[in-house]
Amino acid sequence: MALIVKKFGGSSVATPEKIMAVAQRVLREKGPEDKMVVVVSAMGDTTDNLITLANTLVGQPYTYAREMDMLLSTGEQVTIALLAMTFSKLGHPAISLTGSQAGIKTNSAYTKGRINNVNPVRVLEQLDQGNIVVVAGFQGSNDAGDILTLGRGGSDTSAVALAGALKADVCEIFTDVDGIYSADPRIVPDARRMKEITCDEMLEMARLGAGVMQPRSVEMGKHYGIPIHVRSTFTQDMGTFIREVCTMEEKEFIIKGVAHDTNVAKIGILGVPNRPGIAFKIFSALAKANIDVDMIVQSIRNTDKDIIDMIFTIAQPDLPQTKKIIEELGEEMDFLGTLIDNQVAKVSIVGAGMLGSPGIAANMFGALSDAEVNIEVISTSEISISCIIQADRVKEAVNAIHARFFPKNPE
Ligand code: ADP
Ligand code: ASP
Ligand code: MG
Repeated sequence: MALIVKKFGGSSVATPEKIMAVAQRVLREKGPEDKMVVVVSAMGDTTDNLITLANTLVGQPYTYAREMDMLLSTGEQVTIALLAMTFSKLGHPAISLTGSQAGIKTNSAYTKGRINNVNPVRVLEQLDQGNIVVVAGFQGSNDAGDILTLGRGGSDTSAVALAGALKADVCEIFTDVDGIYSADPRIVPDARRMKEITCDEMLEMARLGAGVMQPRSVEMGKHYGIPIHVRSTFTQDMGTFIREVCTMEEKEFIIKGVAHDTNVAKIGILGVPNRPGIAFKIFSALAKANIDVDMIVQSIRNTDKDIIDMIFTIAQPDLPQTKKIIEELGEEMDFLGTLIDNQVAKVSIVGAGMLGSPGIAANMFGALSDAEVNIEVISTSEISISCIIQADRVKEAVNAIHARFFPKNPE
């Protein structure tokens, strides 16, 4: 007997036929004694369409964060009801539960909810009664009983968090690709599929834009020690395991993958007084508004040592709120001007092997230089290097970097 959590993403449940195929696959793969929890996303482009709907009515809908959560959470509820009915129709008892009913408790950061804890009493009860339990991904509720969503791609996190709380044997993430590749296979046709990847490397890939897994879900997998198995909904391929430690022999590349992220905006606050407390003032105002700041570069001007320029990046949906905060800061703090560019993207290389391997950064910059892509901001971590570039060059940049680190005939 095994307890298995399977998660199916939006493209896997996009049509009634696909929902039927998902139900049939789950039943085919379920042993007679197995307990099965199925987490699903909203059908196809539902979430995008709901955002567009709100945008048409009110523009910048994320200003109304609580209501956005109320709206966006409906997408997943459609799928759970349809899938539970389908299981029953196929002869297996099933019940649907919203995130809240499944015991997923979040903080109150509307539209960016983080799971505080999972108390899956009802899930366990229903499993004991022999039901397949179908849970809405991407959502939970806070102490006040409001529905919160978990950020784009959040159904991955729902699935892994439930798997952790239920002490599941494995969490399977079914999607439209047959595993984790060395780069987004939609952008790099030569990308290589990996048999396995460490949690740390996958977390960094995801954090840097590899949308196949929400970063928080990988963190949860590591925290609970749950193996995550990423596989295709449409084939039987073995896919990729995300594990704490990799065990299989794989051809070693120093770099594990190339990630890119177009959901980036670059902000500059220019000519800020060069004195203690300025960075604190700017970034604490952003933190108070729950805005995640990514790269930060502070540079002194040669021409005037009394002022500095502060450049940082954020996710694009946070841009309207960030602009407002900067305007307010401008009223109490002197600076010469601002720079806002939302036509940028981030390209990154990831690999634990780069620690202690000199020349990796130069190699990446060389690839970008050969492709004549200008680098605007650079940042590094222990296992990654990222560059901000213009968004319209991202495909060339990712391919150039990938070709450099994963040559076709590596000898
Ligand atoms: P789902 O709806 O199933 O959650 P997503 O669209 O969120 O699916 O994630 C799957 C997509 O992630 C793939 O179609 C692929 O384009 C993209 N992706 C980005 N980077 C990678 C990568 N390194 N390996 C595999 N897929 C990736
Ligand atoms: N439906 C949500 C989204 O599109 C959550 C998910 O699919 O993981 O982001
Ligand atoms: Mg996803």
